[in-house]
Amino acid sequence: MIGQQYIGVDIGGTSTKIGLVDGQRELLDHSSIPTGPGRKPESLVDDIVTAIDRLTRTPPAAIGVGCPGPLSPSTGIVYNSPNIPGWENVPLRDLICERIGVSTVIGNDANVAALGQYIALPDDQKADLVLLTLGTGIGSGTIIDGQVFSGHHETGSEWGHCIVEIGGRPCPCGQRGCLEQYASASALAKIATERIGQGESSSLAGNVSAESIVEAVRNGDALAADIWSTACRYLAIAIINIQHAINPRYVFLGGGVSLSGQILLDNVVGHFQAQRWSAHNDQPTVRLAPLANMAGILGAAALARQHVTDD
Ligand SMILES: [Zn+2]
Repeated sequence: MIGQQYIGVDIGGTSTKIGLVDGQRELLDHSSIPTGPGRKPESLVDDIVTAIDRLTRTPPAAIGVGCPGPLSPSTGIVYNSPNIPGWENVPLRDLICERIGVSTVIGNDANVAALGQYIALPDDQKADLVLLTLGTGIGSGTIIDGQVFSGHHETGSEWGHCIVEIGGRPCPCGQRGCLEQYASASALAKIATERIGQGESSSLAGNVSAESIVEAVRNGDALAADIWSTACRYLAIAIINIQHAINPRYVFLGGGVSLSGQILLDNVVGHFQAQRWSAHNDQPTVRLAPLANMAGILGAAALARQHVTDD
């Protein structure tokens, strides 16, 4: 509602961002606090409450929180988050709601970030979208008809664990050949380290990272280019599967790996065009996610607004 203000909280493994958003979805102010490894949920909630008090003296209409899952939006409980060690069955929604006395809603961080990307689109371009967050792992969020898609079990879409290689690399999730094992930042570094260890020559040395691989691709390193192209091909396969499952207008590439920019987008789109079907011209537009790290705050605030206004 215009005139109302909403709080968006984006809990990450390293830092937690808190933002104040107005009724027209504009970010008015924000701050960041360390999430802290091994920290008790109550202690983090204390700091979130303090940060909200500093942002506004007027009680917000509602508070939205994006948190690494798995979690249940309907019960407000975070089951166990691999990115926040020690959190087990945390009643996060109620912890915040009871401290501030304001209606609170929680959602999976990637879903919430996808909602943030949707909200930021111009009104005449708002349409169904999927966000792939390419970070340490690969998260994903799906927006259909302006709403977060949660699915029957509330875990939404996990495109990072769609199988792109039958019998491929093992994934901690228990499957083999998940997209995350080829195109996440950690997978890129792991594959490069393995191949260098097997004797392949490369300018890459020392602690290999996704950033150093991108730099090596720019400098013409053949091994880095092969690993990068393979990752982009698997991403393209996943996007083709997304097209046929959901038929969205957009697929956004976000997360740390997407900061590589055009070298990612051009390669993924090239593989996508080479492999996609020709039966219909209904492919999604693949874009770099434009909001960088503010998507989580804006999406969480939008979730809060939807929670109290039926938006
Ligand atoms: Zn997996």
